[in-house]
Amino acid sequence: MWSRERARDYRQKNPEKLRLRETVWRNTHRDRWRAIMRRTNKNRRIETLRIIIAGGLAHITGTEIIKCTTCECTDIDFLEINHKRGYGREIMDAYPGGRMKYSTAIRQGKIGVSDLNILCRPCNAIDHLMRLYPEKSRYPIVTWPTT
Ligand SMILES: [Zn+2]
Repeated sequence: MWSRERARDYRQKNPEKLRLRETVWRNTHRDRWRAIMRRTNKNRRIETLRIIIAGGLAHITGTEIIKCTTCECTDIDFLEINHKRGYGREIMDAYPGGRMKYSTAIRQGKIGVSDLNILCRPCNAIDHLMRLYPEKSRYPIVTWPTT
């Protein structure tokens, strides 16, 4: 008869069998798997952004409003993690395991967030240009359509 304990024992004793079964399921249910992973990754992304906005894993309340620090854009698909002192791409790519592991480390509290903020893609581009050309006196001004 099925029991939680027997199921756990079976999982511990047969990791290869289960891995194979999972692979078969993924390959026979590709659309469902893709939908699950899309949702999972979106939730992970939201959590990572919340932690950055909260100022660290210890301060997260779950009520953080996820928006661009500069223009207050709230479209999550437009938002990016920004390194305030630059070289964000290099830092994330140099992290063992790359960007995915970097944001996992943020969620696990292994990486501090004091050097990070959230910017939308246009604001991130401007931020980058301002760092690259500090002598320029004029920068593009971004305004968002209000609906
Ligand atoms: Zn912005």
